[in-house]
Amino acid sequence: MEDRFGHRISYLRVSITDRCNERCTYCMPRELQEWLPREDVLTYEETTRLIRIAAELGVSKVRITGGEPLTRRDVLSLFQRLTSIPGIDDIGLSTNGTLLSRCSRRPVGDAGHKLDAGSGASHSEAATETMAQALRAAGVNSVNISLDTLDPEVYAQTTGRDYLPQALEGIEAAIAAAIAAGFPQIKLNCVLMRGRNEDQLVPLVEFAAARKLLLRFIELMPVSTGDVLHEDNFLPVAEAGRTVESRYGALIPEPTFRTNGPSSYYKVPGRDQRVGFIGAMSNLHFCESCNKLRLTCDGKLRPCLGSYLEFDIMKVMRAGATDAELKRFFLDVVERKPEQHDFRESYQPGRMMVAIGG
Ligand code: SAM
Ligand code: SF4
Repeated sequence: MEDRFGHRISYLRVSITDRCNERCTYCMPRELQEWLPREDVLTYEETTRLIRIAAELGVSKVRITGGEPLTRRDVLSLFQRLTSIPGIDDIGLSTNGTLLSRCSRRPVGDAGHKLDAGSGASHSEAATETMAQALRAAGVNSVNISLDTLDPEVYAQTTGRDYLPQALEGIEAAIAAAIAAGFPQIKLNCVLMRGRNEDQLVPLVEFAAARKLLLRFIELMPVSTGDVLHEDNFLPVAEAGRTVESRYGALIPEPTFRTNGPSSYYKVPGRDQRVGFIGAMSNLHFCESCNKLRLTCDGKLRPCLGSYLEFDIMKVMRAGATDAELKRFFLDVVERKPEQHDFRESYQPGRMMVAIGG
């Protein structure tokens, strides 16, 4: 699939729920109370069908997001389905990390899991498996974990919950699963907020270095409601870069290092560490390498996160569309992909990040 501007679409980001156990100020408006009714959310069968069709059109990477995807019931079974789709060779997850260290509760010998049937694993052994381990076993090979601060108070102010200890335990659980079975990538994502986490940038670089994780700083985007982003809470990536440089010296650009997304990476001088910067607002070339489509949990295909455009594929699918018709639908949406996002001109894409999936 290629759009009018030569963007080749190989990456589908799929939100599977609008629900979340946190309430980040930049993602969920304070007044949000009601979740989407179950019947308005794509079932796992429907989601899998759409991903299969996308794969037939050239999508090779899928990232499952939300809301908090790990709050959705039986989420492991979705990942197991995805691993069997021909053409999908990279399955990622975006999470706030708070549920990664929990017991997975997956039954022993569950189809699609890689537990050796002859290993003698007992029910009690399976019961001690963390969600991170179970996700790895179910085929997830990259995990992005949100971490904006290491300060418990700032964490609570930002997320509306005092779950920093759980998030940190989740990160350790992901690392443990990586060591045991190999997560090629664990990334930490920090949303930049002036007046809130500027003093956390260096501590986060240290935290990531100590654990060999790839840290990215992300500019606040005006998703959800217009009042998310003001002049006085917006912290541009360039300024975050200068803060990091004031501690470590000039960062060394690594233009050839890419991770399938819009981040620009730099090496920290004198260290075996990279940091990434995602400047959706200030980088005027941000959209040039876009390879993404988004599927919302309520079955809308979105050609661009930062645009009002979305198209209801759930409706046509539930009305009985054939695979060929759904393929045509995908191609039509790609045809409408804008050259670049309109965040800079228009502050309200009319949908909440928590439902679109970041
Ligand atoms: N709940 C998961 C999490 O927090 O990682 C996955 C969903 S969340 C919507 C995905 C990513 O979007 C997170 O890294 C979050 O920090 C980011 N995000 C949410 N709202 C944002 C905003 N207004 N600007 C920039 N990033 C945002
Ligand atoms: Fe939930 Fe993630 Fe949005 Fe925070 S950013 S409210 S954790 S979906």
